[in-house]
Amino acid sequence: TVESSYRVLCLMSHTGGGHKASAQALKDGFECIYGNSYDVNIVDLWSSHSPWPLCNMPKSYFFLVKNPWLWRLNFRCSEPKIVHETLFRGYAAIVSTQFSRVFMDYNPHLIVSVHPLMQHVPLMSLERLRDKVAKPIPFTTVVTDLTRCHPTWFHKSVLKCFVATKIVVSQALSLGLKTTQIICHGLPIRPSFSIPAGTRAYLREKLGMQKDARTVMLIGGGEGMGKITEIAEELSKRLSETHQLVIICGNNRSLVEKLSAKIWPFSVHVKGFVHNMSEYMSCCDCVITKAGPGTIAEALICGIPIILNGCIPCQEEGNIPFVLENKVGTYSEDPVIIANTVSEWFDKNDGTLEEMSARAKLLGRPDATFNIVRDLAGMILSFYH
Ligand code: UDP
Repeated sequence: TVESSYRVLCLMSHTGGGHKASAQALKDGFECIYGNSYDVNIVDLWSSHSPWPLCNMPKSYFFLVKNPWLWRLNFRCSEPKIVHETLFRGYAAIVSTQFSRVFMDYNPHLIVSVHPLMQHVPLMSLERLRDKVAKPIPFTTVVTDLTRCHPTWFHKSVLKCFVATKIVVSQALSLGLKTTQIICHGLPIRPSFSIPAGTRAYLREKLGMQKDARTVMLIGGGEGMGKITEIAEELSKRLSETHQLVIICGNNRSLVEKLSAKIWPFSVHVKGFVHNMSEYMSCCDCVITKAGPGTIAEALICGIPIILNGCIPCQEEGNIPFVLENKVGTYSEDPVIIANTVSEWFDKNDGTLEEMSARAKLLGRPDATFNIVRDLAGMILSFYH
């Protein structure tokens, strides 16, 4: 194998599918544009390089988000700077030796964080290396939320902070970042979403689906969250053989088993975690999802209208007005209303779906990943040459 000229360390954490997908988007983006000139190493420092109980932090996230009031409490209580900075200082005392070792071993030219808990502690750990390295390693953040971001996303010492929307630009400014630090390109989405993979009919056939049936996708983020079973059941009462449903359960294996065992009155495709999400989305006429930023941004690029069925409190709440105000979808937590919306869209054929689809395409940012990657590569070149 040819050795890469530059090393990029991408810091993420396994909390939901979005951060992982964004990290993968950047890795794929570097490969698409620069081949193997850049080696991108994705690590979850909390899970793999910190002692118990900190290594369980990603796992405790799932417990918290399944109990929305607990998550809201956790989010709100940790918003004040005094609280999270004190906590992070304590964490750094425990993990910074291990984090620094990861930095020394990989010796990256650039560090990119795609996670709100990956700014403060890694930056404190880098500070310890100051005397040991010839040049401080540049550190950047790529924010993967669309609207309301936790303040820990924004650290004044980063070289650049990439954000997805004007709403986040304002938030970053209000938390003390300078205009020269902020770049707004959109959310990093895997390049497979920007590269046409074939017509709808071709992709449906490839994925074993009916070629001509109106298709709805039902998904609950990377972990298969929300009232997926209830919504699928309501859909099955209203849709017919001219329609089909794709349910993506992500890492929720018990949901896959439960839904696969059911006998459905119309064509239903139940999937676990799929790695070709761009193909599945491109097959669909609309998507029912929680208000996850990753899924919303992907649906916009694919030009498919979005029915939001819920959200993770705080960080995803603002995504609901974002979808409604831009007229690219609807919102309801009631499975009956959701199923009625889909059947109306499919049966009325009055152009509603097509209009929303056109607006979604205009709002999508298919070039975001490539623009971020070009900027990151430019930063490395100007820093080291
Ligand atoms: N995803 C995927 N395969 C699956 C389920 C989900 O690739 O089977 C991806 C999805 O395309 C999106 C991400 O996981 O990029 C989910 O991100 P989102 O922000 O919507 O929700 P999260 O899981 O982070 O709460």
